[in-house]
Amino acid sequence: MLSSPIQSLPSTSSITIKKLKRLGINTYFDLLNYFPSRYEDYSVISKIDKIQVGEIVTISGKIIEAKNQYTRSRITIQKVVITDDTGIVEVNWFNQSYLIRVLKIGETISVAGLVKLFGSKLTIEPKEYEINDKKIHTGRLVPVYSEKKGLSAKTIREKMFFVLNSIVGDDPRVVPEFLPPKIISFNNLIDDQTAYQQIHFPDNLDMADKARERLAFDELFNLQLANNLIKKEWKKERVGNKFQLSIFNFQINQFIASLPFKLTGDQQKAIDEIITDLGNTTPMNRFLQGDVGSGKTVVATIACYLSFLNGYQSIIMAPTEILANQHFLTIKDLFLKLDTLRVGLITGSNKNKKNNYDIIIGTHALLSQKLKFKKVGLVIIDEQHRFGVNQRALLKEKALNSHLLTMTATPIPRTVALTLYGELDLSYIEEMPIGRQVIKTFLIPKEKRGDGYLWIKKQIKENAAQVFIVCPLIEESTSETLKSVKAVKIEFENIKKIFNNVETRHALSLLHGRMKSTEKNQIMSDFKNKKIDILVSTPVVEVGIDIPGATIMIIEGAERFGLAQLHQLRGRVGRSDKQSYCLLFSENLSEKTIKRLNFFCKNNLGVRLAEFDLSNRGAGNIFGTEQHGFVNLKIANLADFELISKTKKAVEYFVGKYKIEEWEELKKAVEKYKGEKISRD
Ligand code: ADP
Ligand code: MG
Repeated sequence: MLSSPIQSLPSTSSITIKKLKRLGINTYFDLLNYFPSRYEDYSVISKIDKIQVGEIVTISGKIIEAKNQYTRSRITIQKVVITDDTGIVEVNWFNQSYLIRVLKIGETISVAGLVKLFGSKLTIEPKEYEINDKKIHTGRLVPVYSEKKGLSAKTIREKMFFVLNSIVGDDPRVVPEFLPPKIISFNNLIDDQTAYQQIHFPDNLDMADKARERLAFDELFNLQLANNLIKKEWKKERVGNKFQLSIFNFQINQFIASLPFKLTGDQQKAIDEIITDLGNTTPMNRFLQGDVGSGKTVVATIACYLSFLNGYQSIIMAPTEILANQHFLTIKDLFLKLDTLRVGLITGSNKNKKNNYDIIIGTHALLSQKLKFKKVGLVIIDEQHRFGVNQRALLKEKALNSHLLTMTATPIPRTVALTLYGELDLSYIEEMPIGRQVIKTFLIPKEKRGDGYLWIKKQIKENAAQVFIVCPLIEESTSETLKSVKAVKIEFENIKKIFNNVETRHALSLLHGRMKSTEKNQIMSDFKNKKIDILVSTPVVEVGIDIPGATIMIIEGAERFGLAQLHQLRGRVGRSDKQSYCLLFSENLSEKTIKRLNFFCKNNLGVRLAEFDLSNRGAGNIFGTEQHGFVNLKIANLADFELISKTKKAVEYFVGKYKIEEWEELKKAVEKYKGEKISRD
């Protein structure tokens, strides 16, 4: 039943099915795991004669009048009059003429909305309605789902209600119980089936909280148990290509001394930890965490060097072609004097498919079946949160029995990480290179835009500043759509008019993901060599790009980016000891957005931003999977340290007392996490 494919949902169009699938929802159970972002409270049910101005209520009655009214200003009003046994009330919709075909006279309707005074009469400004008082969209706490891939919250709610309803009254164990009864009772948890029902259609906010706690408990428990098991299995593995350490001490130290800068203490510590791992017969599975700009690349490079000295290949996978190319150039540069070390690049558009390199840098093109590596000693995944589970596992499989280093700027506070991922090996770079300044960040309202442009011109003229202008994608999609590219092209023309005219002649370039890679590389190299003053781009520069000369980051439509993305974008500047700036251009700001953006302006640390992100998702306000959020947890809150500790204890209790094989459902759930086989963010 829970494994039923969503195609078997009744009266659901193939378009809706397709959209659900694009959200990764293939079965009924997948749907149940699409959690609401919050609830609207329409639970106050009122008789029509008792409604009061300012109240949010649900009323029910019969439709006695329903018609379209046309106004001179081309607005159409859908005027619907409803009666119950106490009185009548008028409800108006706007510009939805089709409603009149649905809301027929004589039908029973429920309307939830805000009671307002209209002239001398009370009306209801409708938020939701439904025919036949089904109590899905009105008359209760109503779940609100984030609307993605063109699916409305209303559609999701309807499908969810159907699935949950078909479970009720069935075998009470339709939703599997994951945990042993002892753990459930010790931690005062409600059962899983109730939790799934209450998270979507809660009886009250208290129950919604209990449901959230139960499901978050499961998530954290499964994650930690998976880590625990991964570590045990990993320990049984043996490296294929054993590293020697001490005989290469001299070369490693010499290389470090040849770097254009002195390593920070944290970088050195991370390198020591990595090198120790590399000497073991068990493959390394280390997670290198450091905020944007903390200098992870050089740490990875030193590990690659040790692999080379041992006669092995290293592979570095990066999420974008631009970043892979940048790593290729940076790393080649660092080994300029060492002509026996060959650095290679493999991306989708790079036809050079030879792989007799010592360090191979590439995008997911590295995963191509045709590509075979020889004598791989070390695999590195950069910006690992940008890769899917399968991609990461595939790369690992291609380089069996080699050491693995995953890197990310996902700012999980250290204490949380150590508790939650204590089973994994973590290295932290918390210290920034010497001389870095705080990036001054400002929110620029619409009316100050002109002043903003003047200021930029001045900065270019007086300080030879180099500027990024990043425009948001107008369509939500994992790759850049033609429509989004067109929008950024139009924006580019506008910006060009401002900065390249009879008065000022600044050099501008446009960069987007759909350009040919030779073109992209040329632009990046021109920007790096200061031939370009202003680079207008899509968020394709979001991860990893390192142009130390750039000191100004302009983010257009800043309200459309999440904090994690903003932080990554801002991290493209402030990569030298020069003062850098980040200006957020923004319109249409809600109070909540202003609060968020202001917090961003005042805080430079990723960890602080992550905490803000987390604590603003308090109880009763649960977020579904956020693709660009700071962490990949679906429902658990990383700020909830108490629950993290509790689940950690529960996992310790479990592994001490039970065998996972005896817990069929739990085993299945944990296998899902373990599917990754490698560390998670
Ligand atoms: P990230 O951790 O975001 O991947 P990078 O590795 O791209 O950061 O490094 C950011 C910039 O800082 C690069 O230009 C790099 O050369 C420089 N850098 C790295 N380590 C140091 C250091 N110890 N001192 C000064 N600059 C450094
Ligand atoms: Mg990086």
